[in-house]
Amino acid sequence: MSVQNVLSLIKEKSIEWVDFRFVDLLGKAHHISVPAVEVDESTFANGVAFDGSSIQGFKGIEESDMVMMPDTESAYIDAFTQHPTLIIMCNIFTPDGERYDRDPRGIAQKAEEYMQNAGVGTAAYFAPESEFFIFDEVRYETGINKSYFEVDSEEAFWNTGRKEEGGNLGFKVGHKGGYVPVAPTDTQQDIRSEMCRLMMEAGLRIERHHHEVATAGQGEINFRFDTLTKTADNLMKYKYIIHNVARQWGKVATFMPKPLFGDNGSGMHVHQSIFNGDTPLFYEKGGYANLSEMALHYIGGILYHAPALIAITNPSTNSFKRLVPGYEAPVNLVFSKGNRSAAVRIPVAAVTPKGCRIEFRTPDSTANPYLAFAAMLMAGLDGIKKQIDPSKLGYGPFDKNIYELSSAELSEIRSVPASLDEALDALQADSEFLTEGGVFSQDFINNYIELKRSEAKAVSIRIHPHEYSLYFDC
Ligand code: GLN
Ligand code: MG
Ligand code: MG
Ligand code: MG
Repeated sequence: MSVQNVLSLIKEKSIEWVDFRFVDLLGKAHHISVPAVEVDESTFANGVAFDGSSIQGFKGIEESDMVMMPDTESAYIDAFTQHPTLIIMCNIFTPDGERYDRDPRGIAQKAEEYMQNAGVGTAAYFAPESEFFIFDEVRYETGINKSYFEVDSEEAFWNTGRKEEGGNLGFKVGHKGGYVPVAPTDTQQDIRSEMCRLMMEAGLRIERHHHEVATAGQGEINFRFDTLTKTADNLMKYKYIIHNVARQWGKVATFMPKPLFGDNGSGMHVHQSIFNGDTPLFYEKGGYANLSEMALHYIGGILYHAPALIAITNPSTNSFKRLVPGYEAPVNLVFSKGNRSAAVRIPVAAVTPKGCRIEFRTPDSTANPYLAFAAMLMAGLDGIKKQIDPSKLGYGPFDKNIYELSSAELSEIRSVPASLDEALDALQADSEFLTEGGVFSQDFINNYIELKRSEAKAVSIRIHPHEYSLYFDC
């Protein structure tokens, strides 16, 4: 959409406010609203000023002046405001007109440019499957509304929060028993359909929605692939709509990777491929899973850099509570055609040459999508550049059931890092693939590691509820 198109849209839809948004290091959206009557060509040429010092992970107070430069391509109408509002995503610039090197959206665009300049292909396509839970709000007898997160333990949540209208209706679906049942077991058909309706109105192409494997209201909505930065914009839109529809329905939606102990967590599998114009470069008939050499090298890069990459694709302490055996979340750094415990899976059902792609299953939605997609692309491109053959490095393919491998075979397989700190150690030791071509700056990586170390520390110094059952002697 051009500037002129946006200005016409404002008139045509009687837009009252233009909401300029940017994304911080952690992947959270922030916004400043400007009256539509004050928005003209100069707004798009000069941008909108804001104070960068108050944003976590951005500059210190002495360099606080920042400018949001709107990207009119990303404009869509907000479905949740009473006053007609147009949302526009922005890139962040310094007052001197330089791209701000900590702007995640700028990093995503630089990664795309880097790939094009290297002559690898014209477009990298991404499609995330971002899973989430929708919980009822817990209503205490005192009348105070509390969300799941404010309850001391999971048990307390279920004891106080589950509504049993009309008494116990019988058998309840157990943990891990929720995959695609129809109503009345699936109680969230309508809320997901409403989310999809608003997503389609906001310009997303929806492919399907369904209940996920966890028992308690876990869902997934799939929208169509697009290029890297556009897909990250789409994911921001996706989360915004899911959170706000849930709120309208008196519920809470969360993308937290592992909110329930003993049940499936929420992942964000990311499908990826590279095209040159109309030609799919990951496809070659007859190869393993019809993958081209380029695709295999891309997989090699992802798996080789995975420990460091995971510091960006799984950037929370909670992420590592999901990456454990037994819940369809990957733990093994291998690739495979079908195996869901493999970090890289190659979908083979109903796949056309153009649909030929790889699926990295490790990420979760606590990742900042701009940084995560950019980092995955950089890892894959490094694999292509260095011709990293994943089979030679012992990354597979592993098509048999990994649980049936001999202990000798198992000992060959590398695992994902066990904690955020381990992943950050790996990133500290292996970040050159990210700084290649100036896509991520070293300052960005150091600052990111520092921010994430402080999160890990804040969690580790707190007493865990389970420590009472282990150690509270009396
Ligand atoms: N929830 C699983 C995960 O954590 C994936 C389940 C699925 O999509 N089949 O990745
Ligand atoms: Mg899926
Ligand atoms: Mg899923
Ligand atoms: Mg998947």
